Amino acid sequence: MTDKPLFDPKAYRLTELEADLCSRVRIFGRSTLAPRAEKWDREAVFPAENYKDMAGNGLLGVCIPKASGGLGADYRAYCLAAAEMGRYCGATALTWNMHVSSTLWTGSLFDALDVSDDVRKDHEERRKIHHKRIIEDGAVYSQPFSEGGAAAAGAAPWSTQAQRTDKGWVINGKKIFASLSGHADYYGVLCTDITTDEPSRRNSLYLAVPANAEGVSVVGDWDPLGMRGTVSRTLLFDNVVVDPVNELMPQGLYYHMAMGWPHMFLTLAPTYMGICQAAYDFTVSYLRGEYPGTPPVKRRMYPTKQIAVSEMLIKLEQTKALWFQVISEACFKPNKEQLLRAYAAQYTVMENANDICRLAVRTCGGQSMLKSLPLERMYRDSRCGALMLPWTAELCMDRIGRGALYESGERDD
Ligand SMILES: Cc1cc2nc3c(=O)[nH]c(=O)nc-3n(C[C@H](O)[C@H](O)[C@H](O)COP(=O)(O)OP(=O)(O)OC[C@H]3O[C@@H](n4cnc5c(N)ncnc54)[C@H](O)[C@@H]3O)c2cc1C
Repeated sequence: MTDKPLFDPKAYRLTELEADLCSRVRIFGRSTLAPRAEKWDREAVFPAENYKDMAGNGLLGVCIPKASGGLGADYRAYCLAAAEMGRYCGATALTWNMHVSSTLWTGSLFDALDVSDDVRKDHEERRKIHHKRIIEDGAVYSQPFSEGGAAAAGAAPWSTQAQRTDKGWVINGKKIFASLSGHADYYGVLCTDITTDEPSRRNSLYLAVPANAEGVSVVGDWDPLGMRGTVSRTLLFDNVVVDPVNELMPQGLYYHMAMGWPHMFLTLAPTYMGICQAAYDFTVSYLRGEYPGTPPVKRRMYPTKQIAVSEMLIKLEQTKALWFQVISEACFKPNKEQLLRAYAAQYTVMENANDICRLAVRTCGGQSMLKSLPLERMYRDSRCGALMLPWTAELCMDRIGRGALYESGERDD
């Protein structure tokens, strides 16, 4: 049995690649990810088995060009596929995002930047190395940028620092909430190049630090409310020497990308878009007395339940419509209206995921929140979305309010 697509290919006019990819992920999610999801959550362990499967079925290379052995997904195709995955295992979908971003940001997003032919050629050579590792060796990348200070919100330079030396880059610093810690083969670290200048966001460097390099350690425990399988522990870098071949982006260009391609930070949302759909689907199935493993008791005849489901569907459709528009128009140098809409979409997905789960638990009732069923996990996982920097729900609201009331450069004095 398969589920209906989250975004019907005909209704949403998906491309053939998008429709095929979503179908592939949906089948894999339902058959393989969903039955295992409880284990990662209960034990707060990384879904390593899923990653082995994803190395085998091509999903690790989803955003790598077909010519280099990948599936060739662009921004929208990836987002749609990731939303399908989020329906079945939040932790796998969220960590997949960390891995995929290392190829998406450096891939089709980078290609849209204004850079010289030489820079483009160098970058092309270097990213082939990362692609080869992923496609041939099943290497997994992660994306630790949070540090516990203002850097992850884009308000200060990274406190993790890189110094260029004869031996290569020497890295010192700390990253918190580093999903895939202890499991990724390369940590895609954002740090500040302090070789010649004072620390500045312009001097951000994006580097793949091999997990087994001397001086890299994983510390602290991981026992959170939700998204427990992400294993987001703390990473320490103590004079870690990294070969420049591991630069994920040419020096200085990460800053340009963060400024010009803001939708790059929206890729945490697909997981939660999937959770919105999953909580709604669960509710309909449960109230019809059809959810596998539960007694065939129908609860759909009560008007209050019908109203609650109606409220859930309205929220779900609002979320889908806004998010689909935003991932469809994502581009380099979006205009102000597009940018504010992207913040609004991120806010809506993250907040509505939790709200739809809340309604689902209340409507389905006590038996639905037992740990033998996935709803209570979705409820906990959904709470994490709005906390994720750089686009937390609060920061989205700050930026929307300011952006709506002020034009660039306007002041009140
Ligand atoms: C399950 C999970 C997995 C994660 N995985 C990763 C990962 O792989 N890589 C990674 O880099 N991070 C990851 N994170 C971290 C996440 O992106 C945030 O960095 C983290 O949740 C921030 O927590 P904090 O309490 O340190 O936030 P703080 O920096 O203390 O901020 C607290 C809140 O204050 C607000 N705030 C912060 N800065 C500003 C500002 N300048 N202006 C106004 N308001 C502000 C925000 O709303 C924020 O939520 C993960 C988080 C979770 C929950």
